[in-house]
Amino acid sequence: MAATTPLPIDAPAPLSPSTRVLLGPGPSEVHPRVLAALGMPLLGHLDPEFVALMDETQMLLRHVFRTENRLTMAVSGTGSAGMEAVVVNLIEPGDKMLVCVNGVFGGRMVDVAERAGAQVTAIERPYGEVFDPEEVKAAIHRVGPKLVGIVHAETSTGAWQPVEEIAQIAHEAGALIAIDTVTSLAGVPVEIDAWGIDAVYSGTQKCLSCPPGLAPVSFSPQAAEVIANRKTKVQSWYLDMQMIQRYWGSDRFYHHTAPISMNYALREALALVVEEGLEARHARHLKNHRALKAGLTALGLSYVTAEGHQLPQLNCVRIPDGIDDMTVRRRLLSEWGIEIGGGLGPFKGAAWRIGLMGHGSRPANVTLVLAALETCLRELGHPVEPGAGLAAASEVYGSGGVVGTGR
Ligand SMILES: *Cc1c(COP(=O)(O)O)cnc(C)c1O
Repeated sequence: MAATTPLPIDAPAPLSPSTRVLLGPGPSEVHPRVLAALGMPLLGHLDPEFVALMDETQMLLRHVFRTENRLTMAVSGTGSAGMEAVVVNLIEPGDKMLVCVNGVFGGRMVDVAERAGAQVTAIERPYGEVFDPEEVKAAIHRVGPKLVGIVHAETSTGAWQPVEEIAQIAHEAGALIAIDTVTSLAGVPVEIDAWGIDAVYSGTQKCLSCPPGLAPVSFSPQAAEVIANRKTKVQSWYLDMQMIQRYWGSDRFYHHTAPISMNYALREALALVVEEGLEARHARHLKNHRALKAGLTALGLSYVTAEGHQLPQLNCVRIPDGIDDMTVRRRLLSEWGIEIGGGLGPFKGAAWRIGLMGHGSRPANVTLVLAALETCLRELGHPVEPGAGLAAASEVYGSGGVVGTGR
């Protein structure tokens, strides 16, 4: 074979991404201390210093999840890897699983469970609505599942699903309960032990304000026992918790190379959460949400979810008639550097998703996005009093004390 000469290419210019204001459904804005952690020198994945950092991360995760579960750690991969880790470790082929679907992420859980060989029953609610414990109870009694899966914070609609009562119902029927807290963790209260949750997963790039790349998970002692007593091997080699826990546990047995820099970032992001305090963090998310909501309402935008079930960190509002989704979003990005999310499923082209997550939940971002949106909407002929959005937000900020800065 004759040697071939590679085609000449020009070396690309050094990487230089634009600075954005990330107010979509994630990734969210990252605190400078977390970004700095990503640039710190690498340690080996079995270096005593790195091992100590893993122990520290587990302790911090238990604190943030509000649990004493020993089996608590960060799986390598994004939030979906956390979803898959929970499902494939608890499900063996033929097991029954009940999944509550009221948006994209419940739908994804069905797909993951089917691929894991579960006999899946899905109950559905229209996008934007939440489940009533009674209807979940009826389905649990009809199906007799081994595992019930439900999304705590449905990022596709901004619906905030109460899960405590559903967890109790699942236990009374002898089922395990798994919840998706990808968008809820560190934004609204998550109480793994108090609510009796058996398995939980999250992601780093929503309210933890870390880049995407790790998925915190936690399993109750009952769930850990189910995993230990499996008859079949976990379908995924990569996400097999029995093997992963030998690395995170005292054996320090090599499984796969930990993404070192991402673990630094998560450690630093969790340290910031603890520094601020969970309650203060939740209060900050709520206050900025109230200001944004007042402003959006003054602009004539209404929420797709009912009052009382609106997530502070994910504001999903209807696009007014006659306004084109992409025209507005393109302008927000090109002129203000602001990213907001479009609608999904039935809300495609019909709703916007404005995220105020973690470090992004700040008065400066609320006022910026309101001013930018108002400018776009007015120019497109949507009737708004000039300054109405900011005035309404300012009313909220002007009452009831100072909000934290989200540092
Ligand atoms: C973002 C998200 C996921 C998926 O996480 P990825 O990091 O995109 O893999 C799952 N569930 C919910 C509720 C989410 O918001």
